[in-house]
Amino acid sequence: MPPRLRFAPSPTGYLHVGGARTALFNWLYARRHRGSFILRIEDTDVQRSSDEMVTGILDGLRWLGLDWDEGPEVGGAHGPYFQSERLERYRAAAEDLLRLGHAVRDEGAIRFKVPEGRTVFVDAVHGEIRFENEHIEPFVILRSDGHPTYHLSVVVDDIDMAITHVVRGDDHISNTPKQTLLYQALGQPAPTFAHVPLIMGPDKKRLSKRHGATSVIEYERLGYLPAAMRNFLALLGWSPGSGDQEIFTRDELVARFTLEGISGGNAVFNTEKLDWFNQQHLLRLSDAELIQAVEPSLTAAGLWREAFLGPEREWFASVLALLGPRAKRLTDLTDHLRPFILDPDHYDADATAQYLSSPDLVDHVSALRTEIARCAFDEASLEQTLRGVAEARGIKPALLIHATRIAMTGRMVSPGLFEMLALLGRERVLARLDRLRERLTTSRGLTA
Ligand code: GLU
Repeated sequence: MPPRLRFAPSPTGYLHVGGARTALFNWLYARRHRGSFILRIEDTDVQRSSDEMVTGILDGLRWLGLDWDEGPEVGGAHGPYFQSERLERYRAAAEDLLRLGHAVRDEGAIRFKVPEGRTVFVDAVHGEIRFENEHIEPFVILRSDGHPTYHLSVVVDDIDMAITHVVRGDDHISNTPKQTLLYQALGQPAPTFAHVPLIMGPDKKRLSKRHGATSVIEYERLGYLPAAMRNFLALLGWSPGSGDQEIFTRDELVARFTLEGISGGNAVFNTEKLDWFNQQHLLRLSDAELIQAVEPSLTAAGLWREAFLGPEREWFASVLALLGPRAKRLTDLTDHLRPFILDPDHYDADATAQYLSSPDLVDHVSALRTEIARCAFDEASLEQTLRGVAEARGIKPALLIHATRIAMTGRMVSPGLFEMLALLGRERVLARLDRLRERLTTSRGLTA
């Protein structure tokens, strides 16, 4: 029988990093064993749940590429299951438990009667876990307003949805004995539980907003690739065992994932490590994938041009090939791409003060312009030309290099200058050098 797993978020907050990792582990196990992955929104707490949070959770899962298999059809796709639509089912189960003598009604609520003895379950990560029942207080399963508590709805749903494995955070270990007792009382086998260690910040405290972004979708905005985030999250608390491979595609993760590989110790969320994963995944993208990946952030920055998919495609791919290796995030790429798309609208004040103050500079730049107007327009010739002009005028090449870089980008840093000039093309290079000469002669508004 293929396994059936689920991700069961409560829509009382966004999809945070820990929740996304839980979803990922369940999804990986389901996909590895050709089972099913079910999405169930646990929205019985009407006051604290919101549609906006549901949308956010779905967006986060879609961004990470975690598709779910079942659920009522909405617009040709599967929507998740909602617990709020199953309230009758929980009420019926509570009545069953009353009838079977496993529950009592007190002041309107229905409370589970904890039997004597001890409750034992075997956790796939932690091994056998025992609880003395005398430490489990008789707990409410149905509130007086007819709403189930979490323990009842989660167990009823996991039974009805034939869930075979429950992978969830360690913070749920203390809930498991109560749920185990409910399975027993309802005469149903409990699923295999795998409690996953929590995610800590670098200071070993539970990951929270203090450590930076905790919402998964925020990472999209920050310029991370879903493939990198998935890879990074997968290795937070899970290890593929042998070998030192760290970069995994989605299919490789699916092929390698096991519950045995989940570690019992807490995992640390380290942003530098995430950056490294992102850089590695960026480097592995094909031209077409990279173009697709930068489009949204370029569009948001007003820098996207349809021509990048048409007549300028080859040129754009070369620019990305030049910039790609230095970028950690897509937002870095957007930033570095700007001068390839737009003329600088101002020169950085520090750059101006540091490199554009020499009185003869305008003459040097004019000489350079004259030569660049007629030299062969490739990287090597451009470099030769600039060095030749410097030598002829008895100045350091760095003087012209800095000035040219500022003319092209408005800043002090850029990718390799000559590669950049070659990609910008003669017309734009000359126009930007002219702009610099103009600014140097008027010497007014240099930084404006
Ligand atoms: N709704 C619960 C939560 O978000 C689900 C817990 C579980 O997976 O059983 O924590």
